[in-house]
Order: sequence, then structure tokens, then C-alpha cells
Amino acid sequence: MNLAAYSGATDTGRKRRRNEDAYVVAPPLFAVADGMGGAQAGEIASKLAATVLEDTDSGSLSGPERVASLIQEANRRVHERSNTDPATSGMGTTMTVALVESDGVVIGHVGDSRAYLVRDGGIEQITEDHSLVNELVKTGRLSSGEAETHPQRSVITRAVGTDPDVDVDSFIVDARAGDVFLLCSDGLTDMVSDDEILAAVQEHRNDLKRLTKALVSAANRGGGEDNITVVAFAIGEEDTSDDTAEMPAITDANAPQAPNAETSPAARARLVLTMLGLLVVAVALLVWGLLR
Ligand code: MN
Repeated sequence: MNLAAYSGATDTGRKRRRNEDAYVVAPPLFAVADGMGGAQAGEIASKLAATVLEDTDSGSLSGPERVASLIQEANRRVHERSNTDPATSGMGTTMTVALVESDGVVIGHVGDSRAYLVRDGGIEQITEDHSLVNELVKTGRLSSGEAETHPQRSVITRAVGTDPDVDVDSFIVDARAGDVFLLCSDGLTDMVSDDEILAAVQEHRNDLKRLTKALVSAANRGGGEDNITVVAFAIGEEDTSDDTAEMPAITDANAPQAPNAETSPAARARLVLTMLGLLVVAVALLVWGLLR
């Protein structure tokens, strides 16, 4: 997979005093984390998890195993900190990670932040919310419409750092040129509908910095009730570094305009032949005149 562009943006929103979200833009690795806990603990949890993600060497692992092990390492470090620092006791964070590898985009996920894929004019949520309301929707006890406004919609059923171990959803998504992936915290998705997110991607797909800013602005216009974080990246055409295949295309693309009639070799040859013909006629006329 070839990364064409990427961008990240975060904002405190209009109601919260602090921003407890964090994000990672360290291509080919991307992530969002939405922390929770008393005082500054939520902030500490999300920032610590993001730092662990960026700094951890996952050795020879790749694919879903690599992403799951990164999130488990973040879990271990956040949990350890909350056990040794009473001010952060019980803190945790969501974590949605994307790693662009050669055969696809690997997603790792815990909590209610989300990953979306925008492709061919459609938008698809590719992660499942680990939230109380989603559990109720899945078991038919709540409609998805009711879930959107449920007072306990921010209660999550899985978090990074709250327990010694964490169950990580990890999987690989086939990616194609033109795909745009979004990672976002619930501060975006509670305020902005999937259709509005799709419209913003279509409007700004060639300028992802603008896209992430536009989405943050949309969430603030919608009320900005929570911290808002958006990371976007786009998949480009495969990078073919085969010189013999590339050269003719480049030559064609850069070729000057078609030569005009006066300067083409064929036209010049015709001109020379015409001059020779005229010379032969002139000489013949001269010889004929002299012989008379
Ligand atoms: Mn949030």
C-alpha cells in the first residue's frame, strides 16, 4: 500500500476544560486515544498510550499480531502507572490504531473511538463500538436511533489500562488507491452524522489537513460537547519503481508537440527530392537548348 497523504487534528471542543484525547500520526502508524479518569488522569492515560505506541519496537511481528501487541503493551504501561500513582487510579483510554502494511491496512481497536473507510462514494464504520449502548442495540434492547441520544452512550465496556489484560479487536482491511481512512473519537461521531462525515471527505479528499479541520469545526458547530480528534490518511497508486516500465510513459508524457510539416524528416526528404527533380528538369532543358 502506498500512503498518498495524511493529517491529524484535535480540539478541546466547547464544553470541556481539558483535552483528554491524543493522536498519533507516525506513518505508517496512526491512532486516536480518548482518555478517561478523574482529575488529569484521562489525559495521562491517552498520552501515555500514544507514546507507548510510537516508541515500542514490535520486533519481527507484523499484521494484526503486531497491532494487538502494541495495544497490549500500552495497556500494560497505563495499568502499571495507575497502580503506582494513586492520582491516576482507575484511569483508562480507548485506542483505535491503523498500520499501513504492504498487503492492507491493519486495524487494532478497543473502546468507542472509531475507524471508517470511505470508498466509491460510501462510508463504512469498520470498528465495532465497545460501548454499553452498542451491547443493548446488538441484543435488540435499544434502537440505533435511541442509542445516539442515550444518556449513558459514553459508557464503554472495554478500555486500555483499566485491567491487567485487554481483549483487542485486530484485523486487516484490503485497501485500494483512492481509499480514505478516518480514525476519530466519539467527540466527532456524537456531533456529526456518518453522512456529513462522508460529504466532508468528498469535498476535501485532496486536502486532508483541510478535511480534519473541517470535521473538527463541524463537531463544534454541532455543540462541541466533548473533545474532538480526527486522523485521516489516503491510499495512493502503487509505487512501481520498475524503470523499464516507467521510462516510455515518462518520455511520452514529456514529448514535445508533434513536429510540424516543415521540420519532420519525411517532409525534408520530400523537399530534397522535389529540388532534385526540378534540377534534373532544368538540366534537361539546358541540354535540349544547347543541342538545338
Ligand atoms: Mn470522548
